[in-house]
This record gives sequence, structure tokens and C-alpha cells, in this order.
Amino acid sequence: MFLFRQIVQFGLLLMGSGFLFQPSIADSGDKAVVRIGVLAYRGPEAVQEDWSALRNWLDAALPDRRFILLDFDQSGLTRAVHDQAIDFVITSSGHYVALEDSEGASRIATIDSPWAVSPRKSIGSTIVVRRDAPLQTLADLAGKHVMAVGPDAFGGYQIAAGELLWAGVDPERDLGRLQFTGFPIQKIVHAVRAGQADAGIIRSCLLEQMIRSGEIGKEELRVLAPIATPGMKCQTSSKLYPDWPFVTLHQTPADLSKRVAMALLAMPNSAEGYSWTVPSDYKVVDDLFRELKIGPHRYLREWTFEWLLRRYWGWLLLALALLVVWAVYTVRVEQLASQHSRALRAAQEDQRRMAEEARLRQATLDHTARLAILGEMASAIAHELNQPLAAIGNFAQGMARRIGAGRLEPEVLLEGTGEIVTQSERAASIIRNIRAFAQKRPPERKSLDFSAVVGETIALFSGAHPQARLSWQPAATQTPAIVMADALQLQQVMMNLLKNALDAQQTAGHAQAPIKLQLRTDDGACLVTVSDAGCGLAPEQFARLFEPFFTTKPDGLGLGLSLSKGIIESFGGTLSARPNDGQAGLTVCISLPLQALSCTAA
Ligand code: ADP
Repeated sequence: MFLFRQIVQFGLLLMGSGFLFQPSIADSGDKAVVRIGVLAYRGPEAVQEDWSALRNWLDAALPDRRFILLDFDQSGLTRAVHDQAIDFVITSSGHYVALEDSEGASRIATIDSPWAVSPRKSIGSTIVVRRDAPLQTLADLAGKHVMAVGPDAFGGYQIAAGELLWAGVDPERDLGRLQFTGFPIQKIVHAVRAGQADAGIIRSCLLEQMIRSGEIGKEELRVLAPIATPGMKCQTSSKLYPDWPFVTLHQTPADLSKRVAMALLAMPNSAEGYSWTVPSDYKVVDDLFRELKIGPHRYLREWTFEWLLRRYWGWLLLALALLVVWAVYTVRVEQLASQHSRALRAAQEDQRRMAEEARLRQATLDHTARLAILGEMASAIAHELNQPLAAIGNFAQGMARRIGAGRLEPEVLLEGTGEIVTQSERAASIIRNIRAFAQKRPPERKSLDFSAVVGETIALFSGAHPQARLSWQPAATQTPAIVMADALQLQQVMMNLLKNALDAQQTAGHAQAPIKLQLRTDDGACLVTVSDAGCGLAPEQFARLFEPFFTTKPDGLGLGLSLSKGIIESFGGTLSARPNDGQAGLTVCISLPLQALSCTAA
């Protein structure tokens, strides 16, 4: 109802002024209308009643003007000021301070009330409770249901809010319920009396006013935590602030403001007992607002660290605790991760060391195996070396005899020395091969012609075993047998296979039978087979052929084939064996990947 009245009044007001933003002083007949906006804290009807003495006085004091009183609630009054729809304002001290800040309003007089100590100490908040309520101090309101006019009401909330805050009760946080009722203020008093709330915040002197008018019984309510201020005729629960001001606005003509101010100061006491005096200092109101972070100081509510800390300390503490838990967890995870990675590094290091040890052991075994082969070949080598040496001796002796006989034909001498050179080169070549074979050195992977390696091995083996008959069939293919391997290790494998083949044939009594060597390239692989006509192997022995230390020979080590298999596999190949088809003997097969480049080049 009140709101509706305000809307209608505001519409009339704008229409009356002719144009929305025109100055609001309008002619009414021969008199210019002056609009006074009044905060209707006791409801719209009370405005005319409360301020009629003032209006009459002003009408009389400024005969060329006609003053009208327009009632507003606080937000309506603020809007009217903002829209320049009124010329003067009578409002609460708190509202005035807000208008001063936002609209540039300024006070020209302050009410001098008969109830107050002085115009500077006049308005306070009164907190009313039922007479029998178990509440004594402001702190007792914590958790209670409290009614107030509105967050912007000065006496009807803000003053009491400051007092509560100083008493350690944050009205926004610590009350059980804070209910804003709006104007008229009297309904708060009725609600508390009816038990609808534990306490009510009203502007000072309203309770006395209601008791005087008989609206409420004297004994029904009492003031909570009253502050005795000498000279103050009403009971308050707060300290006192300046009384309401009469306010001029920045668009109001200065001469009109001056005439009105003079009229106000000259006004005698009204029937209600109030008059107007020089404007008070409203700084205390501003200080209260700063404390409450409201009105012009609302910006202080923005998120400062201190404000956050005070308001959300519980949540901040929880966040901090979570942060600590998270940090501890992260540190622990980091710790475990670094422990694991240390363990992993140690394991990798162990693995690397073991691999290195295995490699060294393998190299030693390889070397030992080669020396073993050489050992077995020692008498054959000696025999082999003996031949060129004997030939050299023969030629030397022959030449010596000819020199003794005085027959020194140059052609014969040249032939003899030539033979000596050939034979000594043959001997040197045998020694070079043996030294190379016996050498201890790390294996190397090189691109090499497997066919050439087979040829060299045959030469070395035949030198050492002249009784052996080797039948060699190189590949009749266009593809060169290029593989990636270590020539010396391949030679070692071939030597081993040939020696085993010869041993098997000797055991079978076929030492003279040919040992067949074949090389072919097939499907990206280079295959070299060694087939003998030896004793072969029983199935249970065949199954263990590549096991280390498996041997059937009295002086055998049983390492040759297992080492050979390891060597071939280290070059990505395979070493396998199969009994000969339909006849005695064994075929051992080396398969190595052909080097892709060579294959395509071929
Ligand atoms: P070792 O020759 O010192 O015994 P090897 O590993 O070279 O060691 O051979 C292991 C065993 O495999 C031999 O003792 C032999 O019994 C058998 N073997 C190897 N090659 C042949 C072959 N061509 N024919 C029959 N048996 C063979």
C-alpha cells in the first residue's frame, strides 16, 4: 500500500514538473511550488501530521512559495533526490550522510528536539524486548531473533548494529535471525510485544511516543541495556548521534536555500516542541558508517585480507589445514618417487654392471675357446709351418751348394731367392692368421662378405688339418652375401663347425669323406651350411647339442657350439642343426640377416 502510494505520488510529481528532468520548482498559480521530500519513518500518514507546523511556517515565511511535503521510504527518497524531483529533504542523519556522499546534498539546519540532550546528541537506537524476556545485555542477543527496519535505517538499525558490534555480536553473523520489516517502524514494537521476535530495534523516543499516544502499554516492553544519558528524555540502548537535518540539494537555487535556512532558524518551537538550529557536525555518523563498512564506506567490505581473515577464519583455517595436508602428501609422494627412482637407478646400474660382467665373461670364454681350438691345432700348425720352413732351408742349401761349386747362374739364383720369399710370406701369413685368431679384443660389427670369411676359414683350417677334405660351394646367386658381423668371430664359429665335422667323421672312420660347405642367400638371409658324413647324434644327445658343457669327447670342453650360437644370435641370426636326410651325419646351419643395402644394390 505504502509502495503503491509512493509510485503514484512519484508519477504525479514528475507530471507536475512538466518534464522528467526539469527543475522541480513549479508554478502553482502565482506561487512557485517547493517540494520537500520527507523520510516517512512512521508511515506516510504521519508525515503531514508531524511536519505540518514546519510547512505552515515556511509558507508564511516565504509568501511567494508554496511548500508541499512528499513522503518517501529511504530508497524512494534517494531516487527522488537523484532524479532532481524534489528541492529539499528532511531525513535521518544516516541517510543524509549517504546522500551527501552520493548526491552532493548539504545540510542547512538540524532539528532541536525537546527530548534530546542537544541537537548533536539526539538520535539513538532503542532495543525493545518483552518485560519478562531473559535478556540483560546486548551480548545476550547472540543467537536471538531480532527485528529491525532495514539495513539503511539509521536509528532503526545502523546505530544499534554499531553497538552490537562493539559488544562482540556481529549483527550480520551472530544473531539467530535478523529480520528487516521496513516502515512503519511501529510494527516492530507490536511484533516484539506479540512474541514474534525476541527483540526489536527502533529509533529512540518512538517507544515513549507510542506509550504517550496509548498505542502500547507502559509495562509491556522494556529497553534492553539502557544507557543513562543526563538530559536525554528517552531511553536508548546506544550512544546518541546528531538529530535529523534539513537538507538542500545541489540543483536547488542558492537564494531559495538561504531564505529557507533563515526561516528555519527563525521558526519557534512547534506544538510538538521541536525547532531548528544551526546544522550539526555529522562526522560521528560517518565514523559509525566506517566502523560498519556501510554507506560511503561500503568499499571497505571489498576483499581485504584482514576482512577475509576476520569473516572467514574458520574456512581459511580449513583451507590452510587442507593445504598443509596437501603439502605433506606432495612431499611424501615426492619422497617415495625419488626413493623409487633411486632404487630404479641402482637396479639399472646393477643390470648394466652385470651385463658388462657377462660381456667380459663371454669375451674371456670366446678367447679361451679360440685358444682351445688353436691348442688342438698346434701340432697341425707346427706341421704346416714346417713345410715353408723346410722349403726355405732346401732352397738356401741348394743355392749354397751352387755357390760352392762355382755355378752361379743368375736365373737359378733368382728362382731360388724368389721361392724363399714366397715360402717365408706363406709362413708369415700362417702366423698372422693365427695371431689374429688368438687375439683378445672386443668384437666389432662391420659390413662384410660372408663368402670371403668362409674362404679364409677354409684356408686356415686346411693348413692345420691337411687330411680334411673340404668341398666348398659358394652361392650361385647374384646377391652378394653381405652381413653385419665380426669377421673374426664368424671365423671362430666356422672353425668350430669344421672341427666338429672332422671329429665326427674321424669317430665314424670317414676322416677322408668330404665335408660340404654351402652358401646361399634366401629371403633376406644368408645361409651357410656345414654337412659332414660323421657319426651323427642320438636323439637325446641332439636335444642337448647347444647346451654349454655338453660334450661326448674325452678331451672336449662342450663350449664350442653354445658360444657359436651366442655369437650368431648377437648378430641377429640363428644357429641350428639337423640330421642329414637319409644318410649318416649332421648338417649345421648359420643364418644371418642380409644387409638390406647390399641386397637392393644387388
Ligand atoms: P666339444 O667339441 O668341445 O665337445 P662342442 O660344443 O663344439 O664342444 O660340441 C658339443 C658336442 O656336440 C660334441 O661333443 C659332440 O658330441 C656334438 N657334436 C657337435 N658337432 C657334431 C657333429 N657335426 N656331428 C656329431 N656330433 C657333433
